Amino acid sequence: MAERLRRLADALAVPRSELPHLGEAATLPLANADGMIENAIGVLGLPLGVGLNFLVNGEDVLVPMAVEEPSVIAAVSLAAKIAREGGGFFADADEQMLIGQVQLEAIPDRAAAKAAIERASEEILREANALHPAMAARGGGAKRLEVRELSVLDVDGKPEPQLIVHLHVDTQEAMGANLVNTMCEGVAGTLERLSGGRVRLRILSNLADGRLARAKVRIPLEQLADFGYTGPEVAHGIAAASRFADADPYRATTHNKGVMNGIDAVAIATGNDWRAIEAGAHAYCARNGRYEPMTRWWVSEGHLHGSIEIPLQIGTVGGAVKTNPLVVTALRILGNPPAKKLAGIIAAVGLAQNMAALRALGTVGIQKGHMALHARNLAVTAGARGQTIEVVAKALIAAGEIKLHRAQEILARLVREQASAPGTAGVLEAT
Ligand code: NDP
Repeated sequence: MAERLRRLADALAVPRSELPHLGEAATLPLANADGMIENAIGVLGLPLGVGLNFLVNGEDVLVPMAVEEPSVIAAVSLAAKIAREGGGFFADADEQMLIGQVQLEAIPDRAAAKAAIERASEEILREANALHPAMAARGGGAKRLEVRELSVLDVDGKPEPQLIVHLHVDTQEAMGANLVNTMCEGVAGTLERLSGGRVRLRILSNLADGRLARAKVRIPLEQLADFGYTGPEVAHGIAAASRFADADPYRATTHNKGVMNGIDAVAIATGNDWRAIEAGAHAYCARNGRYEPMTRWWVSEGHLHGSIEIPLQIGTVGGAVKTNPLVVTALRILGNPPAKKLAGIIAAVGLAQNMAALRALGTVGIQKGHMALHARNLAVTAGARGQTIEVVAKALIAAGEIKLHRAQEILARLVREQASAPGTAGVLEAT
């Protein structure tokens, strides 16, 4: 790890001191944790790694990823390496728009109420922006108002005509949930007055479909040859897996879980609310009335093509960004990108993660690579530490049985062997 950290600082051309908290066991001070949530009793660690080989819009980028699952970082780094051969990923993202919803019920005349609210939209936007003057000064804030008609079942199961007012807010560098919620609550009284109805819910929507991030990649077929398969065979395997996900929500769900392996890992490393991202991304996948994959892959003109489009509610300020010191370092590793750029990078990571999974699934299956890494995990669970982890993992793979009881047997045998041959001390360090 020390060598990795040295090379990371070299790659970023910064002194090691500019990357604090890496290589430390406890990085979130208890006092911060206590201030972040209620009933805090400790801090839970997660491994932080770095996704390699990413070229996004012509720029090299090292991607911090916090994840507990083995093989995620190895797989994404390999996919990014292959993607470099086609010029890497091309990514972009919309402005940082977030929707705030205000629900109006018990409206005497819905058409008249809708017209009154629409006529007053400038006044309502001004009122919302007055609650967050600094946002407007940055060029952000509430930009547009929309009034939707909706039927919601009442307590007796009868449809009640309601109005749902959407505030479209540019949240700039923030994810924006808190600030949008403040605006929704702040304009509720005016909306009640204009509609003659009663306000019920006032909160953002995590279906942030005005805030889409996209990435695409184009890889020459010959670069994909592996596992004894030709490049075109691997590419057609990936494209066929993509069509399967298009046709079947059972498959699309697992396909998308693979995408989120990468996206969540970067979201967590950068202090972002991954539940918001998950909720928005999956809802967007169901926008056509059926759950669909987040990515598409196809073969044309001697290349494998891939693309992704999902809403990403990303922030580089607010939330947990400043309370967790390691997040600050993770953003530094990424080159402190603005939120829109970070959203594009995260979309590229999701696409790469998906490509890695489909590349294996469309050919030899994922267990071969996955189990090798799982063997290391089992070695740690069995009690191996330091160099012994590798020794036990290799023995597990050689035994062809990657199970915890096998790891425990192998470790016990190594301990016995060391006890009878004291000259081998060091191999079993800290077991
Ligand atoms: P915060 O309220 O923590 O921070 C955002 C604030 O940062 C802004 O209001 C702004 O305040 C300030 N700021 C400073 N510089 C900038 C800049 N360049 N661009 C934008 N804002 C800037 O967070 P959010 O409003 O982003 O809300 C995110 C949090 O809300 C997350 O922790 C999330 O988990 C949580 N949350 C999520 C929900 C959901 O997703 N459903 C629901 C409720 C909460 P100022 O203008 O005054 O300077």
